[in-house]
Amino acid sequence: MLLLSGQTDKYIRFYHTKAWHDARQETLTRQHYLCQDCLRDGKITVAKTVHHMVPLRDAWDKRLDQDNLEVICLEHHNQEHPEKGSGNKKYFKHEAAVKKRSDVFKFSSNKDDDKLFW
Ligand SMILES: [Zn+2]
Ligand SMILES: [Zn+2]
Repeated sequence: MLLLSGQTDKYIRFYHTKAWHDARQETLTRQHYLCQDCLRDGKITVAKTVHHMVPLRDAWDKRLDQDNLEVICLEHHNQEHPEKGSGNKKYFKHEAAVKKRSDVFKFSSNKDDDKLFW
C-alpha cells in the first residue's frame, strides 16, 4: 500500500484527466511518436511517453502547455528523472502486471472456496 502526500496525489490525479490524455496525444502526434532526445542525437526511437520538460511540481501552470511537453523514450526518461532511479518504472509496471494476474487467480480460487466452505 502506497501512502501518498496530498501533493503527489494531485499529480497522479492529473495524469488521469481527459485534458492530459488529449494534450499527451497531441504531443505524440505532433512529434510522430519519436523520442526528441534521441532525435537530437540523430537517432530514430519510437516512444510513447510524454515528458514535462519543466516538471509538474515546478510549473503546474505549464502542465498542458505543448511547449513544455515532449516525447521521450524510457532510457532518456530515466535520465531526466535520476531521483526515481533507473529501471524503477519497469519495476512498477511489472508489479502491476503481477498484481493483475494474482487478482484473477484469487478470484477464480475464491469461487471454489465458496463452494467448499460456505
Ligand atoms: Zn531517447
Ligand atoms: Zn518526465
